[in-house]
Amino acid sequence: MALETNSSVGLPVRDYLHSTFSAAHQAGDAHAMHAPVLVLNASYEPINVCAARRAIVLVLKGVAMAEEENGHYLHAARFALRVPSVIRLLEYRRIPHQTRALSRKNILLRDRNTCQYCATVLASSELTLDHVVPRSRGGASTWENLVTCCHPCNRHKGNQYPSEARMKLMREPRSFNLHTSRHIMRMMGHSDAKWRKYLFY
Ligand SMILES: [Zn+2]
Repeated sequence: MALETNSSVGLPVRDYLHSTFSAAHQAGDAHAMHAPVLVLNASYEPINVCAARRAIVLVLKGVAMAEEENGHYLHAARFALRVPSVIRLLEYRRIPHQTRALSRKNILLRDRNTCQYCATVLASSELTLDHVVPRSRGGASTWENLVTCCHPCNRHKGNQYPSEARMKLMREPRSFNLHTSRHIMRMMGHSDAKWRKYLFY
């Protein structure tokens, strides 16, 4: 990441961030702060996606460095900052086989907003979650028992097992692990040429 002009370098990070972000908001650049940034481990292994704002904080704190820039500038009072597109952590972090937080958002993300019974792709607001084994029959709220479902399929299934409702799951629901996140990073990477070399290997 390059600081484009003169007098900014000596600013403490906190003041720097404050002036940067408030100026960015004034300038109407706020949307640029939400652009997705690919996060690489020190080994160049892709590990995450975060918002540009967080990526800039990591770079300014000295935790990460910018590998690619997205062509946008963040304009502040006395300088402009290049917004990163890819950052890399300076120290290697061991990534556990973590499972992400179980949430509606992450289930929809895992299932790519696709009803797992009829394969319709819908906006998040038009989708619900279905317990494969109904809650009323002891089904748990887990990654393996929750799937993305459209409202018509959800009504049709009611309190039945899929087999009883003559419905079939597109695929076995699994927890959202690192493999799944890589898959999603790859899909996002299709739209960003600068991500590709880190994701398609
Ligand atoms: Zn459906």
